[in-house]
Amino acid sequence: MNRAGMSAGATGIVTIDLARLRANYRSLAGIVTPAECAAVVKADAYGLGAGRVVPALAAAGCRTFFVATLAEARQVRALAPSAVIYVLDGLLADTADEFLAVGARPVLSSAAEVAEWTAFCRATGQRAEAALHVDSGLNRLGLSATDVRALADDTAALRALSLSLIMSHLACADDPGHPKNQEQLTAFERLLSLLPVAPASLSASDGLMLGVPYHFNLVRPGYALYGGQASTGRATPVSPVVTVQARVLQIRETLPGETVGYSASFTATRPSRIAIVAAGYADGFARSASATNETPGGAVEVGGRLVPVVGRVSMDLITVDVTDVGDPAPRRGDWVTLVGPRLTLEEAGIRAGTIGYEVLTRLGQRFERRYVDSES
Ligand SMILES: *Cc1c(COP(=O)(O)O)cnc(C)c1O
Repeated sequence: MNRAGMSAGATGIVTIDLARLRANYRSLAGIVTPAECAAVVKADAYGLGAGRVVPALAAAGCRTFFVATLAEARQVRALAPSAVIYVLDGLLADTADEFLAVGARPVLSSAAEVAEWTAFCRATGQRAEAALHVDSGLNRLGLSATDVRALADDTAALRALSLSLIMSHLACADDPGHPKNQEQLTAFERLLSLLPVAPASLSASDGLMLGVPYHFNLVRPGYALYGGQASTGRATPVSPVVTVQARVLQIRETLPGETVGYSASFTATRPSRIAIVAAGYADGFARSASATNETPGGAVEVGGRLVPVVGRVSMDLITVDVTDVGDPAPRRGDWVTLVGPRLTLEEAGIRAGTIGYEVLTRLGQRFERRYVDSES
C-alpha cells in the first residue's frame, strides 16, 4: 500500500477512502429517492475529519447536514456555505442569536426550547427556521405527546414558528423484526397529524433499510455513510470507508510460564512470539479488549489472518500473539490492521464488548488521518 505523505514516525494511520464515502452516499440516496438523504456529521464526522468528509459529501450531492453542537455547526458552515445545517442537541439558553449568525437551525426538543425559540422569533421579528423533535417512544430527546398536543393548540406559537422539519428517532431500527419499529412509526404518524404540515424525518442508517414507510421526506444516516453495518438483520449496500493500521515496535520471545503485560493477566503456555503494537486505549483500542488465558479479547490482522491480543491493553500499546504467523514472520516496523476488510468495525466492537460506532468515534487523534480517493 502506498503511504506517501505519512511521516516516518507515524505509529498509526486511519485511511479514509473519500470515493467510497461518496459512493455510499449515492447508494443510500438512491434507495430513498424521492426522499432527501441528509448526512449526520456530528463528532467530527464520526472521527473521520469533518474538514474532508463534509466537502466530499457535498460533492456527492448532499445538501443537508446534522451535527450535535453549535460549534460543530460553525465548522460545517465554513465547509459547506449553502448547506442546511441542523443541530441535534437543540437550543441551549441564550444561543438563539448565534444560530442565526451561523445560519444553523436548532432541533427544538422540549417545550422549553420551543417557548424560548418562539419568544426569540417574536422579539426579533424573524421567522427563523427550526426543526421540531417529537418523541415517538425512545424517551430521549423530543416533545412528549402531551407537549405536542399543547403546541398544536397554541396557535400564537405556531404562527411564530417556521418548522422546516418534524423529526423523531427510532430505538430498535438495527433489529428489523422488532415490534417497536412499527409502534414508533404509528406514533410518529399520529403526532404529525396533530401539527401543521412540514417535511418529516424518522430514520437514520438502519431505519432507512426498513422500507419506504420509514423514509418520509428526509433520512439522516451517519454510520452507514462511513461503511458501518449496524443492522443485525440485513446488509446495507455500502462499502467500508475506513482502514486502521498501527506499527509493530518490536517482537519478543516468551517462554512457557512467563507473563505478558500489566497485572500479569496472561501467561504463555508455549514458547511464544509476541508483537508489541503501537496502539492502546489512548488511540481508541478499548481496554475492554484485553485478554486473559481464559477470556479472549481483541484481535489484529497480520498478513491476512487474525491474531489475538494477549494480556492487558495499555495506554499506548497492545501485545498480540504472532507465534503462528510464519513466512513472512512479522517484523519491527511492519503495519498490522486494527480495522479493515477482514476485521470490520462490528467485529472489532464485539471483541471489545461494544459496538462499531464506538470503535469508529473513539479512534484517537494520535493516529494520522490519510485521505485517499480510490476512483482517481
Ligand atoms: C446520531 C443520530 C443519527 C445518525 O445515526 P446513525 O445510526 O449513525 O445513522 C440520526 N438521528 C439522530 C437523532 C442521531 O442522534
